[in-house]
Amino acid sequence: MRIDLHTHTTASDGTLDAAELLDRAQKAGIDMLAITDHDTVDGCLLASNSEQAGAKLIHGIELSTAWSGVGIHILGLNIDPGSPTITDVVAAQQQARSLRADEITRRLRKAGLACSIDAVKKLAGGQAIGRPHFARHLVDNGSARDIKHAFKKYLGPGKAGDVKNLWLPMERIIAAVLLAGGIPVLAHPAKYKLTNKKLNALLDDFCAAGGVGLEVISGAQSKDITQTLGSLCERREMLASCGSDFHQPGFPWSELGNFPPLPAHLNPIWESW
Ligand code: AMP
Ligand code: MN
Ligand code: MN
Ligand code: MN
Repeated sequence: MRIDLHTHTTASDGTLDAAELLDRAQKAGIDMLAITDHDTVDGCLLASNSEQAGAKLIHGIELSTAWSGVGIHILGLNIDPGSPTITDVVAAQQQARSLRADEITRRLRKAGLACSIDAVKKLAGGQAIGRPHFARHLVDNGSARDIKHAFKKYLGPGKAGDVKNLWLPMERIIAAVLLAGGIPVLAHPAKYKLTNKKLNALLDDFCAAGGVGLEVISGAQSKDITQTLGSLCERREMLASCGSDFHQPGFPWSELGNFPPLPAHLNPIWESW
């Protein structure tokens, strides 16, 4: 079975729409695919309305929050996308995104950069604005060399455009995913660059709030990371998840289904689905 439980569409910051993503998943031989757009279920809903054969579709979402001053992402997998708690959470997060876009614009300008919220909105194509849209704008107007540079200098952790105080609290997000019948999963734990001690403290709080899943495999990661996260997952008796975090074609490290297998000793999250 080829399983990919973390992907994006044009409903957030991906470049393929839901139908194009399903098509690509089918061509890649994926048997089970979760669509997990940032703070929206629009991509999922479009996919479930499409008639395409191929991968079994799992409804998902990737919710933004903050823990101890660090921006973190929580996946809600196998949720009911029509549940009222998801509708409420999505509305609150979208409002946060909109306020955040204004705040990011203000801060980038204060840092001396040219930044036009109208140009950023245009890049987002009417969908919710994320930092990748700001990154593209900064490249377009010559403030940054490329996307990577834009994140490194202006949008990444601790930089002027890193605004994370507007999201719903982690506990609220976990509760909503559970109420919607889904499984809360801590996304790409290695991306937060936490010390082991801090990652354990995060997992203590995540699990105490009802979190049960850990994304042990995120894209084409190193064996060391897989081993560290695999041990944490096992020790805490969490459910193990895996996904590419696919956003767009052409990035070999995040191609659909392109990641190492889950270590055999773990409990895969999809076993009860
Ligand atoms: P946001 O949802 O607005 O907080 O933006 C987060 C998104 O920005 C992530 O999901 C990635 O798609 C993208 N991103 C984060 N860091 C980088 C980076 N260093 N280079 C390129 N894209 C990034
Ligand atoms: Mn993204
Ligand atoms: Mn993420
Ligand atoms: Mn993602």
